[in-house]
Amino acid sequence: MKKIQIPKTSLVVLSGSAGCGKSSFASRHFRPTQVVSSDHCRAMVSDSEEDMPASGKAFKVFRLLIDSRLSLGKLTVSDSTALTPKARRELITIGRKHDFQLVLIIFDIPFAVCSERNLSRARNVPSKVLLSHRRLLDRTLAGIHGEDFDSIYIIKEEELDSINVEIVPLPVEVPLSGPFDIIGDVHGCCNELETLLDRLGYSKANNVYTHPAGRMAVFTGDLGDRGPRCLDSIELALNMVSSGSALYVPGNHCRKLHSYFQGRKIKISHGLERTLEELERSEKSRRDSLAGRFMEIYKKAPPYLILDRGRLVVSHAGIKENMIGRLSGRIRRFCLFGDTTGEVDAKGLPVRRDWASQYRGSALVVYGHTPVAEAELRNNTIDIDQGCVLGGKLTALRYPEMEIAQVEALDVYYTRGVMRSFAEVHL
Ligand code: ATP
Ligand code: MG
Repeated sequence: MKKIQIPKTSLVVLSGSAGCGKSSFASRHFRPTQVVSSDHCRAMVSDSEEDMPASGKAFKVFRLLIDSRLSLGKLTVSDSTALTPKARRELITIGRKHDFQLVLIIFDIPFAVCSERNLSRARNVPSKVLLSHRRLLDRTLAGIHGEDFDSIYIIKEEELDSINVEIVPLPVEVPLSGPFDIIGDVHGCCNELETLLDRLGYSKANNVYTHPAGRMAVFTGDLGDRGPRCLDSIELALNMVSSGSALYVPGNHCRKLHSYFQGRKIKISHGLERTLEELERSEKSRRDSLAGRFMEIYKKAPPYLILDRGRLVVSHAGIKENMIGRLSGRIRRFCLFGDTTGEVDAKGLPVRRDWASQYRGSALVVYGHTPVAEAELRNNTIDIDQGCVLGGKLTALRYPEMEIAQVEALDVYYTRGVMRSFAEVHL
């Protein structure tokens, strides 16, 4: 049986010829209020679904309804033919504006079947329209993979009646309530990380740290670069994640290392050179294994985590309230890089806006990325990057206890000119 999985903040775009069964499918699998139909909008504005000259106004209402529902975070099904790239682009634009997942369902139903169904109902579409829909459908099927949908399902006639539609949580939602030990940016400070884990009560067996009481560590990303034991830090975290004793969200430094492992051209700077030096010095078998395991875990890692039934959110660079529970390229970038303005400062570093000062959400957001002197609650957010690699501290936030555990850096490991000086980041 074909399964269609729809994340709950999705815009589901149905596409197919008149008479292929889109509205019937929508009413079978979704609640009536979730479906926005262009035909209903035509009837709403002009009393008749068949009043084609009213289409322009009807589609304005259609787009407005979809836009309004998405702004409220509501799963929505757009029921129109959506057979032209322009029609789909308009829907993609609305979906992206609200950071919704875009799920396209194409009804690849034979012309003869659409014709027969069309004749069997009260409202008949002229057969020349059905023929033009078939041509548009063929063009759609040939070029659809170049369009910006997150997932595309193509339904055949024989599958239509047995499809299983499942509304699923976003991959960022993890059904765990803790307790957690959320650990700030490690940046290769593995000695401090090991001390911190010891202090938090973790013990090492078979190369993996676990907690006897089942607590879970959560790494906020940026495991390597800049510090003295980058590979050890990455491997320690990978071992914990693989064995289920830790969760992980990636940081911008993790993203760059991943690009390096993929063989992409990148600028080796901001401390990546330290990780690469260690890699060069290490045995090939270690290098290969680390690259493979890191890439696998990086690929699987959600850009941020919603934990404890929505009460806790962990993201490397933070997150805005209206992004929580949604997923898009824009949100991925925000979680990695923060609220950047696109400008750079006098030292060539990206200018970051202070999103936390505007945060009013009910979920506690725990993040790192920007080193600050102390981990302090601000509007229900807490930055737990205390710049260990710069000579500060490595921090863990114990949740739900809201206790801070810290280890002082054994040294100042990184003082390169391009780095914000530690004095500068002391708020
Ligand atoms: P339009 O684009 O014109 O709105 P549509 O794609 O929404 O068309 P429907 O109105 O859902 O098509 O279906 C057209 C006709 O086909 C209806 O009479 C419906 O009862 C019938 N039909 C829909 N799906 C099936 C199915 N799976 N098996 C048999 N008949 C179906
Ligand atoms: Mg219909």
